[in-house]
Amino acid sequence: MQPRDLSAHVAYEAGRGIEEVARDLGMDPADLTKLASNENPHGPSPKAIAAIQEAAPGMSSYPKAAHADLTGAIADRWDVDPSQVWLANGGDGALDYLARAMLDPGDTVLVPDPGFAYYGMSARFHHGEVNEYTLDAPDLALTAEAVLSDYDGERVVYLTSPHNPTGGTFTLEAVETVADETDEETLVVVDEAYGEYADVDSARGLLADRDDVAVLRTFSKAYGLAGVRLGYALVPLDWADAYARVNTPFAASELACRAGIAALSDDEHVERSVEMARWARRYMRDEIAAPVLPSEGNFVLVDVSEARGPDGASAVADEMQRAGVIVRDCTSFGLPNCVRVTCGTEAQTREAVATLNEVLAA
Ligand SMILES: *Cc1c(COP(=O)(O)O)cnc(C)c1O
Repeated sequence: MQPRDLSAHVAYEAGRGIEEVARDLGMDPADLTKLASNENPHGPSPKAIAAIQEAAPGMSSYPKAAHADLTGAIADRWDVDPSQVWLANGGDGALDYLARAMLDPGDTVLVPDPGFAYYGMSARFHHGEVNEYTLDAPDLALTAEAVLSDYDGERVVYLTSPHNPTGGTFTLEAVETVADETDEETLVVVDEAYGEYADVDSARGLLADRDDVAVLRTFSKAYGLAGVRLGYALVPLDWADAYARVNTPFAASELACRAGIAALSDDEHVERSVEMARWARRYMRDEIAAPVLPSEGNFVLVDVSEARGPDGASAVADEMQRAGVIVRDCTSFGLPNCVRVTCGTEAQTREAVATLNEVLAA
């Protein structure tokens, strides 16, 4: 036998891990700096680490109280009803719940190109089809017009703000325009995985007045908890009760919930992480000897085409890896001329810039 026809499905290409690269190149993992997956170089909050350690002996029980407590804490933070918080196994899991709740077989979704691969993957898992809207070179600006000019009645439209991999943002007015100009039955998902790093207002503010916008947030980036897999959607009250009918039982693990509750109580850790990223993205823009897009995230996008040609990203990423710095080749995002560099600690960021400039000059 065979699985169903999966020929339209593509495997997710994650940033490469330190162990994996070290094994490939016969290097010591300790000699590698990984700035390929937009992880927090400060790690998790110490409070989250302690919470995970304290929770370990209770792992034989299903997470019930912790799930409710975290949902309540997030609802307080955003001033929404707890039913509007859809906890999930990472932001990616929340994307799945939205697709489960929205898509009938054959429905289409509209995703950005270049953009985050999981929107389309998730839609296909749920028997949906995928159309793209194009962000135009050279600045890849995020405007309502860019989205609406390719909109054709899709059931879900994904906006990423800050955008991965460009670092650009949609204004709140642009989000509203997209929601206004699309059909009543079109949901606009605003992915704010990097929201903490940005100087723009969350689309959460739109949820009070409308039923066609949902917001995605995650603990993987600014909270430094990518390994526990914890994220959530904030959805309009009108249909928030759909969660009970689409979620996988115990959508977030006990460890994830305990870590999340503790992390939410540690604003200082988030602030420190955001400050460091602000410094790093400015430093990289000033010092990298190639065009760098302005970024509101914890990463920057570097155009290496002047130095290395229109398909130069993969060679640049390879050479940097050999020199000990792992960055993200953006070919799989549809940008074979760009690498994405995550904001590291000060030392890591300086090392990445020096290495990249050497590779570009070679
Ligand atoms: C990292 C990321 C997410 C969510 O990742 P999770 O680890 O699943 O929470 C969602 N959208 C974008 C654009 C991202 O970069």
